[in-house]
Amino acid sequence: MTTQPPYKGRTLQARLAPKTRIDPLSGCHIWEGACNRGGYPRISILGKTQLLHRFLWIARYGPIPSGMVLCHRCDERRCINPDHHFVGTHQANMDDMTQKRRARRERAAADARGHSPPPALDVPEAELTPIRIYVRGVEIVGKAVIRPFDPGGKL
Ligand SMILES: [Zn+2]
Repeated sequence: MTTQPPYKGRTLQARLAPKTRIDPLSGCHIWEGACNRGGYPRISILGKTQLLHRFLWIARYGPIPSGMVLCHRCDERRCINPDHHFVGTHQANMDDMTQKRRARRERAAADARGHSPPPALDVPEAELTPIRIYVRGVEIVGKAVIRPFDPGGKL
């Protein structure tokens, strides 16, 4: 981190850490502090209310070009992990949302028909690995794409 705003004896990290929970499965940094009405994390920095995920992204990568918006790769509004955000045009964000919504609808429809839901991502069958995981005591059996972690690539 290069940005060290002038806090009285406390770094931003020290301030955020107690209110951030890291999800080991998704890698999301879930903010458990205050959020705005839209459900996005907000924090007061130097007397100004900031959207936290925006602030952290800018601190790491620099200003967001005008006309561009910051988008979530993950569907977690409270996620403040800069690796889970990318800059895109407003249109790209809308397309992304439409596509995610459509994928959710298709999974729900397949569920309703009693079929096993299709994979979340449009990938060849050969790339899918059967998985069995436990999340909070609930067994989930499905297929997933297991790839080396690539923070630069589009997930
Ligand atoms: Zn995330």
